[in-house]
Amino acid sequence: MKIFKFGGASVKDAAGVRNVASVIQQFGGSELLVVISAMGKTTNALEDVIHHCFHQTGKAQESLQKVFAYHDEILENLFQGDDLFGKNDIKNLYLELECFVDSPNIQDDYDFLYDQIIGFGELISTKIVSNYLLSQKIANQWLDARNFIITDSRHRDARVQWEATERLVQNRLLPIARKNLIISQGFIGRGFTGETTTLGREGSDYSAAIFGSLMGAESITIWKDVAGVMNADPKKFADAELIDGITYTDAIELAYYGASVIHPKTIQPLQAKGIPLYVRSFLQPEAAGTKVAADGKALEVPCKIHKSNQLLLEISTKDFTFIAEDHLKEIFASMSVNKVRANMMQNSALEFRCVIDNKENRHEPLKQALEGLGLRVKIQGDLDLLSVYRPTSEAAGLSDTAIAAVVGEGGFLAGKKVLQQQNTGSASHYLLG
Ligand code: ASP
Ligand code: MG
Repeated sequence: MKIFKFGGASVKDAAGVRNVASVIQQFGGSELLVVISAMGKTTNALEDVIHHCFHQTGKAQESLQKVFAYHDEILENLFQGDDLFGKNDIKNLYLELECFVDSPNIQDDYDFLYDQIIGFGELISTKIVSNYLLSQKIANQWLDARNFIITDSRHRDARVQWEATERLVQNRLLPIARKNLIISQGFIGRGFTGETTTLGREGSDYSAAIFGSLMGAESITIWKDVAGVMNADPKKFADAELIDGITYTDAIELAYYGASVIHPKTIQPLQAKGIPLYVRSFLQPEAAGTKVAADGKALEVPCKIHKSNQLLLEISTKDFTFIAEDHLKEIFASMSVNKVRANMMQNSALEFRCVIDNKENRHEPLKQALEGLGLRVKIQGDLDLLSVYRPTSEAAGLSDTAIAAVVGEGGFLAGKKVLQQQNTGSASHYLLG
């Protein structure tokens, strides 16, 4: 059994879908489960719909129609004049979404609402691909991942219930997968009351790893629009290079610091079972890409990871007393409850500072909770975080020339300044604004 995962970029248009079909045929082998993300930037577009829906702006349907128009163009191209394949299924998903957005019962829990809508991106995408394969006489079985991936009900960041999931994967999914090519979704699961949950943005890699580890797959392959795991984003750093092999441990660290090439939770289940992960390019499918495995190569070059849209939280007491252990305990508890993770932290006598991702409906509730504890919270936005993860032998940090290449003329953060620098055990972080 092998697992393939195709991200949104691989199916962003009709040509992409055709290419995915050819990669499956050429490299899939006899037993294959394929996880496919929402097409192109659909997840972001659906986040827009959710925003309008939740805040009742009156623009939810309008933003939804844009999502449909985008998919319709792909459909028209793939199934020219042929209504037999697929369109029915897909129009039905459209209708379901339209009715949901129109219904008067919109929940007041943002994260719950989010999960009920966002997963339609993957449902529509996988239906299109599955039906396209059928139209090309490539037999396959479309399956709803929510039937197997059982989670708790922590919306937008659900945790897998491993025992229940394993039972369903073993008893229900495996027998079908032994006989059929499976097309399924990443990112989505089912919560305690049967509702849709999601595993966090970019969670499809994690889904592929869950399926792979519970099915005892021989390997997982993530097909991307880059050659493999690079030590930096080639669009931002001219000296970016391909890493052909890497250990699970280094991959976990890189993902943790925000290297978008692999979702942070993806590696653990694979490491536990010793299943190798390949990251390969769907544009050059013959190329070997990167192999992530226990016996992977030691990292030889520093890796640079850039995260945009960061917020700096400056938390202090109102009476200028020290930020002490009790405060820290409460701050971390509030962060955990509000599903906020610190990308960088610093603590001084009077202040606790941390940098977090700017996600809708995350920092405001956190701010309120902290203020409720009698703390003062200042938030500064529009910041960038640059992290450098390095092999142990390397000197800390970036040279002045390397920094100048980023913030100087022509650099991808031209005009910004380093506001703060911090070195931790294996990484250096630069906050820019
Ligand atoms: N479509 C979801 C996202 O973009 C999940 C994924 O692609 O991994 O976050
Ligand atoms: Mg996606």
